[in-house]
Amino acid sequence: MKLWEKNIRVIEPYVPGEQPKVQDVIKLNTNENPYPPAPEVEEAKESFNTDMLRLYPDPDASVLTEELAKFYGLNKENFFVGVGSDDVISVAFQTFFNSDKPILFPNITYSFYCVWADMYRIKYECPKLDDNFKIKAEDYYKENGGVIFPNPNAPTGVLESLDFVEDILRHNQDVIVIVDEAYIDFGGKSAIELLDKYENLLVVQTFSKARSMAGMRIGYAIGNPVLINAMNSVKFSVNSYTMNQTSLFIGSKIISNKKYFEDTLAKIINTREITKEKLKAMGFEFPDSKSNFIFATHKKYAAKDIFEYLKTKKIYVRYFNTPGIDNYLRITIGTDEQMDKLFEALEQYMDK
Ligand SMILES: *Cc1c(COP(=O)(O)O)cnc(C)c1O
Repeated sequence: MKLWEKNIRVIEPYVPGEQPKVQDVIKLNTNENPYPPAPEVEEAKESFNTDMLRLYPDPDASVLTEELAKFYGLNKENFFVGVGSDDVISVAFQTFFNSDKPILFPNITYSFYCVWADMYRIKYECPKLDDNFKIKAEDYYKENGGVIFPNPNAPTGVLESLDFVEDILRHNQDVIVIVDEAYIDFGGKSAIELLDKYENLLVVQTFSKARSMAGMRIGYAIGNPVLINAMNSVKFSVNSYTMNQTSLFIGSKIISNKKYFEDTLAKIINTREITKEKLKAMGFEFPDSKSNFIFATHKKYAAKDIFEYLKTKKIYVRYFNTPGIDNYLRITIGTDEQMDKLFEALEQYMDK
């Protein structure tokens, strides 16, 4: 080992789902939306003034926070925007989790949380979900340095009620509680309505899933202006210009198209419910999902074998080689046609 090597940070990074380089893949592995983004994106592309690229973008990202504020009936001071919610949550970890006490998040959850905690040297504890993959509220009643959980949870798809979220908030009024709502629009009730009552609540959402814009990288936090200001101070201490001109311009144009957004959601929810029936009929078991994916296991067939078989058929689903969930597949809801191809392949696999 060279002497300089001992000063290199050693970290186990987050491993995102595969983005296959080959063509014609049915991609059900990273919870992307199978439908195109709102038509306003095409129009925005046409009207984007490329001379804007000469200039640094607005560090306050006002066009975007103003549109978000209009959509939610809040003020622009309630919004922090970032390069996907991954960026937003990363800033939130740095801003809010500075206690000597461990932060709390579930043992089965978005695997980026422990990576950020390690990266920023934040202590953490991971209370176990119950046998039905539900979060046990009592586990979050003890003293801690902050709380974060996704609702619905990932990779399980399990939704907790707003009463549950409020119970967590009621028991954690001295720390920041972050609710990661990447999938809330697929059937849950947002904690946004609790913001008036709990000034320590931060809700995080994204354009990546429900709004079909994973490639644009826009995420946002909603909270009281004290929290948002604190996050901005951290952001301005690292990089003032996280949001690029094209994301600001195009992103700001799609938010107002509520109809397209809701129609797309309705299609995915419909396909999800059909998928549940089909998978059940094939002998799969899964916790009920209120997201755009299903976390399924089969008593007769190993998840890893199914995963590998599907890959040979150019159907990508997500497999986690993680103890406790290593016999599960996380299957993103695609279009009806894509799901039919999946069912066909699964039937072939089981027949052979
Ligand atoms: C997808 C996802 C995110 C991050 O999405 P971005 O593309 O960075 O906005 C955050 N949390 C959960 C639980 C997710 O599944």
